[in-house]
Amino acid sequence: MLTITSNNNNKEPKKVIWIHGRSHPSESPASWHLEGMIEQLLNNSEYSKALRENCIFYIVPFINPDGVYGGYSRSIANGVNIEINWDRPDSLTMPEVKVLKKTLENVLSKNNIDVFLNMHSQIANSVTYWIHDAKSTTPDFFRKQVLFSNLTINGNPYYKSEHQSFSAIAPRYAEGWIWNKVGEKSMALTFETPYTYYNENPTGEWVSIENLYELAKHSLYAISDYLLLNAHERVVVDNPIVSKQKLSLNNDSKIMFIGDNYIQSSKDNAKITYQTPVLKQGNYEVYKWIAGECKEISKNGENIWQKCDEINIRRDKKVKYRIKLENSGDKADALLFVRKSN
Ligand SMILES: [Zn+2]
Repeated sequence: MLTITSNNNNKEPKKVIWIHGRSHPSESPASWHLEGMIEQLLNNSEYSKALRENCIFYIVPFINPDGVYGGYSRSIANGVNIEINWDRPDSLTMPEVKVLKKTLENVLSKNNIDVFLNMHSQIANSVTYWIHDAKSTTPDFFRKQVLFSNLTINGNPYYKSEHQSFSAIAPRYAEGWIWNKVGEKSMALTFETPYTYYNENPTGEWVSIENLYELAKHSLYAISDYLLLNAHERVVVDNPIVSKQKLSLNNDSKIMFIGDNYIQSSKDNAKITYQTPVLKQGNYEVYKWIAGECKEISKNGENIWQKCDEINIRRDKKVKYRIKLENSGDKADALLFVRKSN
């Protein structure tokens, strides 16, 4: 297991991300994608430094090393598929799963696991997450998963809303095992990359190490945005300074909001001020999250970071940023500041 983090004086408790891959040995694109995530977590960019300062990543790149070494397709050396081995009694549980459960229990005894990802590749010619439906979990857990998926889709040429997958949560999978332990506290999903091309489009880009690395960048953006991180070059600001104007804080899980709530105005022309943490001097693009309906397929223009401004910050400082809600009923949620240059 790789542990990726950094020693620093950050007083906030670190977010915990668990990622494992390759329970199915034949799914090698999943490993190139995960390698892309690891490479980017270890590089010297301000963004990667911030991820290490704010998070602990526990990564098991090969949970089925014998299967990979032996050239098996979907099983360990004795023919068992360890992807669906999580709800058996101890006597029938494979050693690989026993060790993983013990390691996960050890991590969970100290911290919550905020994000849990299980990396695979699939026959369909598209990228997907297996999102657990609201009926088998809760409406708010459904919102969190679809939000995470939409944060991965945002600005990503390799993944589209219509390619998301939905199923009931089941204890035979790792995600179901985690759900039974901690419920909504861990956002646990299986992610799949294709073998062939993206977006069901054979005339488009075919899968390569380069574009799996590019996809990995979007997987990291989803993590840092979902966890509302101040990641130096990518800063999410979720809680505005709410004035005495007629604004209400809502948390209706039918709306795909970020963080704990969103703001809704009950009059026209309401103004809302956000206070950023210290932003380094430079040019920034500013985006606002357009919180739309929380559905299986998002409407065009909803559940995205919509660019609303470009600003130049001449010296390192906190910035007050104001937005206006024109009509009564309009919603405001998180802002995102992306640093483009010095
Ligand atoms: Zn698989």
